[in-house]
Amino acid sequence: MATKAKERFTAGLAPGARGEDVTALQDYLEHFGYLAAEDPEHDTFCGPSYPLGDGDDLAVLEDRPDADAGSFDDATAEALRHLQAYAGLRPTGEVDEPTAQLLNSKRCGNADQSELAEFSTSGRKWATNNLRYSLENTTPNITTGAVTMAMQQAFAMWSAHSPLRFTQVAASAGAEIRIRFATGAHAATGTNDPAFDGPGGVLAHAFYPSVPPAPVTAIMGDAHFDDAETWTVTVPPQAGHTDLVTVAAHEFGHSLGLGHSSVNGALMQAFYGGPQRTLHADDISGLQHLYGGVTLRHAAWIHGTGVQVEVDDNVESIRRYGFYTRIIGKPNTTNWYHFAIPTPVIVAGSRLNWHRALLRFVTGSTSTVVRDVHVYDGSSRIIAHQAVNLGGSNAMAVFGVPHKPPVYWGAGISIGVTTGAGTASERRIDLISGGVDFT
Ligand code: CA
Repeated sequence: MATKAKERFTAGLAPGARGEDVTALQDYLEHFGYLAAEDPEHDTFCGPSYPLGDGDDLAVLEDRPDADAGSFDDATAEALRHLQAYAGLRPTGEVDEPTAQLLNSKRCGNADQSELAEFSTSGRKWATNNLRYSLENTTPNITTGAVTMAMQQAFAMWSAHSPLRFTQVAASAGAEIRIRFATGAHAATGTNDPAFDGPGGVLAHAFYPSVPPAPVTAIMGDAHFDDAETWTVTVPPQAGHTDLVTVAAHEFGHSLGLGHSSVNGALMQAFYGGPQRTLHADDISGLQHLYGGVTLRHAAWIHGTGVQVEVDDNVESIRRYGFYTRIIGKPNTTNWYHFAIPTPVIVAGSRLNWHRALLRFVTGSTSTVVRDVHVYDGSSRIIAHQAVNLGGSNAMAVFGVPHKPPVYWGAGISIGVTTGAGTASERRIDLISGGVDFT
């Protein structure tokens, strides 16, 4: 059980101050890459204690202000202004109320980049598009099955927009991306793996990709989650609980070589703002900068008029127009709608592989949402995107399949829709098309 996170920082600290509160602030700024580390051996994640590769850019480590420990000097103020600018706060150079709130909020443990940029990369990427991951352990609050599904969903967000394929393997297999829950100090001998800080604060951290000659079984690529947090896969999370899918997807961005983004709404922004189970355009730009875009071998679509309703009793009205189906759900109900997509299986003598499912739809309000999207090959469910909660106009909503398996029996997309209260117009969903991309 998690205890309540303590408030580490209070407003009022300003240049000229001395003492423990200043040291705590400097430790924060040092850990996240805004101040030079006192001991370069313990520098942050881009640090030179990792095996270096051709792609490593050490410039980011230089030019960091160097502060006098325990004294709120000019260097500390300059570093704080960088953090404030990164987070979109007024760069006052002192710990005012919004800054104290920021310092106390949940965030990723990886360092931020020193200059303001949109997406940033570590300069590292994997040499293969076929990546393996393993679950070394799980967390007490969630079943192993639900943790496994959470990881699949998080990887699927990245596989949808890239040539990458993510396959789960046994913990003993030496996967590129090893996933582990841990508390406090948890470093293996010889690794620069910072301790976790108890409930709140840092939620997780992950290591940038391995660059030859470092072995793929090394810590590079691994993602660690602070097990002092209370993790959940339920949306909306209870107060104090943290969404595992969101944080895992963020950490896997680091595992692929992405740094923190300063773009508001990007998944790769450093601070946790609640469940976010889709990528932002900025995240996709960063990913494709490293791994290139999507090459498709085939695609297939069906009109929204082909949709099947699972529970007729929860439908107030259904009407099929020329090129879409409008369904008005009864207030405060849930339902499942099914698309069966005519599926090419063998094309030009070779079997296709799944890449992703796609949907085009509009809902009348944000209280009527596509909550879950399940993708089937025949009767096998190959990926569940849970609690994506998409409302309004979705011209092209994309749902990845992490391991991109061969297609055998035919594609089905099932969508779980939650209908809220409100007028008939607010309770409507227009289902325009469903489709699948193959690779
Ligand atoms: Ca923590």
